[in-house]
Amino acid sequence: AKRQGHGRYVFYRPEMDANAHWMLQLRNNLHRALDRDELHVYYQPFVDVDSGTVTGIEALLRWQNDELGMVSPVDFIPIAEETGLIIEIGQWVLRAACRELQRLHARGYDHLRVAVNLSARQFRQTDLVAQIADVLAETGLASRYLELEITETVLMEQAGATLDTLHGLHELGVAVALDDFGTGYSSLSYLRRFPITYLKVDKSFVDGIPGEKGDLTITRTIVAMARSLGIRVTAEGVETAAQGKWLRHWNCEEAQGYLYSLPLAADDLEWLLCNHD
Ligand code: C2E
Ligand code: CA
Ligand code: CA
Ligand code: CA
Repeated sequence: AKRQGHGRYVFYRPEMDANAHWMLQLRNNLHRALDRDELHVYYQPFVDVDSGTVTGIEALLRWQNDELGMVSPVDFIPIAEETGLIIEIGQWVLRAACRELQRLHARGYDHLRVAVNLSARQFRQTDLVAQIADVLAETGLASRYLELEITETVLMEQAGATLDTLHGLHELGVAVALDDFGTGYSSLSYLRRFPITYLKVDKSFVDGIPGEKGDLTITRTIVAMARSLGIRVTAEGVETAAQGKWLRHWNCEEAQGYLYSLPLAADDLEWLLCNHD
């Protein structure tokens, strides 16, 4: 057995499966990724469903490593979360995203907002609100242009502390979005109790539009319910024109997905914006 950081033991055995080996490689390389400039932020636009205009962008992490290739955040975010690296990486993403938006504002795209994903561990930090206020002050971005995306599961953990953080963010003027909505276990009453500005309908429901009756009903109901509570709705993972059409019909305000744009490097995003209108 080999002693790893954080008091964990990792056993090297021939029968260790490929997946465990891969995870180990990710773990061994991730802590150097920031210093080696291997992390990049891509941006995926979201659009107003009626007009097709870009209303904002979501920051999505990319990790490009010489040996491992392009590693998906689905694989490395959980490791970053587990090792605690997510704190440092998360602050870096937040700063990069605010800076990039500030740059876009200066180039005339001053109506755009930026959404940044927060993991459970980041959200649990007691000084989160102060950290965010610092990044806003440092980058000069007005708080109303920042949106933080958390999942329902994060919202449900330790309701008391969560409520304090949410109120702190609300007072600061930062919007909170509930990501992957419909996949967790949050009670609908939470939507009323917590200061939530946006709700993102999970891709798994959007996928079923227009063929699957159950998905149609769920999506339509989420949109109607959210709107009646004054929460704005973004549909994720929109890939087809038919999906876009239904979402418009049901008064879903915004959509995001490959139909409109892939996540893009900053330069490509600016190209898209300047060729859009
Ligand atoms: P998410 O926040 O739900 O982001 C949406 C994911 O769906 C992104 O995957 C995006 O590229 C992908 N996507 C967008 N539109 C479509 C579509 O039309 N079809 C399909 N098939 N996929 C679409 P990505 O970039 O691989 O990110 C995966 C997850 O990793 C994110 O899910 C988020 O939970 C996490 N993540 C990414 N960046 C960060 C970050 O900076 N911090 C934290 N904490 N998590 C992040
Ligand atoms: Ca997200
Ligand atoms: Ca999502
Ligand atoms: Ca609209």
